[in-house]
Amino acid sequence: MSTRDQLLALNDELRRLRAGGQRAVSVTEEGLAQLRESVAAARTGAVAEVATLTTAPFRMAESPKPAPAAVAPAGAPAMPAAPSIALPAGDKQTQWNHLRDLVLNDATCKAHVYAGKKVVFGVGNLDASIMFVGEAPGGDEEDQGEPFVGRAGQLLSKIIKTMGLERGEVYIGNILNWRPEMGTRNPDGSQTGNRPPTAQEMAYCLPFIRAQIAIIRPKVLVALGKTAVDGLLGTDCFKSMGAARGTWHSYADTPLRASYHPSYLLRQEGLTSAAAKKIKRDAWEDMLAVLERAELPVSEKQRNYFR
Ligand code: URA
Repeated sequence: MSTRDQLLALNDELRRLRAGGQRAVSVTEEGLAQLRESVAAARTGAVAEVATLTTAPFRMAESPKPAPAAVAPAGAPAMPAAPSIALPAGDKQTQWNHLRDLVLNDATCKAHVYAGKKVVFGVGNLDASIMFVGEAPGGDEEDQGEPFVGRAGQLLSKIIKTMGLERGEVYIGNILNWRPEMGTRNPDGSQTGNRPPTAQEMAYCLPFIRAQIAIIRPKVLVALGKTAVDGLLGTDCFKSMGAARGTWHSYADTPLRASYHPSYLLRQEGLTSAAAKKIKRDAWEDMLAVLERAELPVSEKQRNYFR
């Protein structure tokens, strides 16, 4: 295991402990010395991740946070430790096929999906310059087994088109591979409503989205909404989307831009208030920044949208 993978595994374990309610960990002097050494070695590589890794354990001890708002319904399967993923040697397609089969056949992912519904894996161009990461599938996604195909997905496709790209030119993934269960059902057996993933659910699925990023190696990552920001940059790094967006972050050496989730943008549709207009313009400015960072062309007309 590389230093980076060891640090990511440590980060996952600390997140899992925190998700389980643990607020402090004790570290031996020797362990601390080893950690410092690893961090120093990794600093030349994954700077942002190291920042997340080094702050996480100490934040837990210093500032206990209330339990996450999202709660899995009673009776939902318990979350095991996050899986450790080893990608096979070979080209991107070989690695992606392997990972997709792993996810679609993963017992934990399958245990969270109701009969007739699907586990959802990422989709798109394996050589994409831009990779979007969302939260979790909704009803349409679990029906079709593809991320962002419902109303929010249609808006995302529209945004991608406005950026001058086709949906098939980018890559789209989610933090979670299944639709978080609500525990309540419609008469036809489908579940009612949606909720954000719990910290435990996120911790379990993070290795899968990280592995997709490692395969795609996009020029730019776009975290759509707070769950994606928390998943990729670390829970508690940013209090709100407002704090996370408008500037560049880094995930494993890849520039990352945080932007509003399309579901949130959908809620602004039809609103003419100055606040709603600003949200739309801000989201568009995020996309302009993403295009520039990905070294893709931006026309004058595009620059002036949503002004
Ligand atoms: N919202 C998400 O975050 N992801 C999807 O795939 C669909 C809706």
